[in-house]
Amino acid sequence: MLSGIKAWLRHPKLMLDRLRYAQISTKITCFYAAVLLLVLLLTSGLTGLGVFFSFYHQAEVELEISMNHVLRVLEQGRSIDMDFGRDDVVLPGVVLRIVDSRGKIVYENDVHYPPIKRIEENTVKNPPFWANKKMQVAQLRNATLYHARMDVEYRGQIYQMHFFKTITAEKHFLETLQKILFLMTILGFFLALLAGFFVSRRILQPIREMTATARKIEVEKMDRRIAVPPARDELAELAETFNHMLDRLEGGFEQQKRFVSDASHELRTPVTVILGYSDLLSRWGRSDEAVLDEGIASIRSEAENMQQLIEKLLFLARADQNRQVLHKENIELSELLADIIKKMQLVTKDHTVELLQNDDGLIYGDLVTIRQMFRIFLDNSTKYTPKGGHIVVVSQKVTGADGSFMEVDLSDDGIGIAKEDQKKVFERFYRVDTSRTKAQGVSGTGLGLSIATWIAQQHAIELTLTSELGEGTTIHLRIPLVS
Ligand code: ADP
Repeated sequence: MLSGIKAWLRHPKLMLDRLRYAQISTKITCFYAAVLLLVLLLTSGLTGLGVFFSFYHQAEVELEISMNHVLRVLEQGRSIDMDFGRDDVVLPGVVLRIVDSRGKIVYENDVHYPPIKRIEENTVKNPPFWANKKMQVAQLRNATLYHARMDVEYRGQIYQMHFFKTITAEKHFLETLQKILFLMTILGFFLALLAGFFVSRRILQPIREMTATARKIEVEKMDRRIAVPPARDELAELAETFNHMLDRLEGGFEQQKRFVSDASHELRTPVTVILGYSDLLSRWGRSDEAVLDEGIASIRSEAENMQQLIEKLLFLARADQNRQVLHKENIELSELLADIIKKMQLVTKDHTVELLQNDDGLIYGDLVTIRQMFRIFLDNSTKYTPKGGHIVVVSQKVTGADGSFMEVDLSDDGIGIAKEDQKKVFERFYRVDTSRTKAQGVSGTGLGLSIATWIAQQHAIELTLTSELGEGTTIHLRIPLVS
């Protein structure tokens, strides 16, 4: 520790730089120890000054009282002679000497007090600022004293009255007091350093534990969590926040892993089909025209499936990275819905598609993605509704306390979705009862509803699904209208 202090004294700038890179516990300790040192220095300094100040003040008051009393006694006509000091003319401890114009002492109450000449020779030129300016301060070997002079005229003669009062004869005591205060200051400083060092180390222990745990966490081992300290303090909050962040990261990583494996799985099927058909074509395609046609048609259809899947994957990837650009503008919803339904009616041969109500209303959104969202719901309705089924759209304007909305219901009387699947269908790649739907020749990727959900979120559209197995499905949309 001593070597540390020496280094501080020799290279203060270098040490200050080093402190900047020191541990927080060291910084806190040094800072508080420095503050304490300052406080201790100030208190001991002020205590020392206070002691001196009160000594001076006490002496000054006693001198003033004595001088006033002497003046009063003179006014009463007391004669200046050896008997002047009878019945305590000055306060005990105050020395009075009366000298006539020839310098002869006419009266003195303490013959052992140092002679006036010696006192005057030892007068301090620059007395402390708190000393009374009307009096002089003399510093003798063992004592400091006040000296006040008063000239009086008595029976035509001028007399000098010298008042003395010892301010402190406790030089030794005061020196010891100063030493003790100084030692206490240094001791307090080192105690603060020591206590600060241990306390701050203890307080910051959870942070060290957190760092150690955080070091052990890797992408492959994300299940580790930091122990939350029992106290409800900032460190517990930090640990909890850190753990929540890890939860979210772990969830994100899991989702990412699932996404990649699902995507590869989905892409594997069309690729296998394409490979199978190309084998078939290379073997029989040249000789058998029917095989050639079937092969080309199947390869094309699988390639189209793949293209759709890749496009959906790219859409979601852009959405995840916030790179999906939306050009929002005011759109007349009734016109958009009418257009979508008209086109659907043209291509849908097996179902009846009806737009029962279509209220006017301006919405603020990206035309391309809003259209895509409606297409996803309507395509699903056609895919999961047997031939001859009905698809009905109702778009109704409602105004509530929270503004105006267009409530759009897209219903079908198709196969419906079981209760336990109704939440899951919004997850990426989730498809209900794939074997049954596949058997009916329904192709899908399980990404449509995820994309639709993202689009709805980007437009503050509330999206709910109600469905009854075997009876049908309704998608409810609550779209905010431009006021
Ligand atoms: P997909 O490409 O498989 O249609 P979606 O994300 O659009 O993917 O839908 C997920 C699953 O939800 C579908 O596989 C289907 O099982 C179910 N689904 C969606 N819409 C309907 C509907 N209108 N009727 C019945 N089932 C539906």
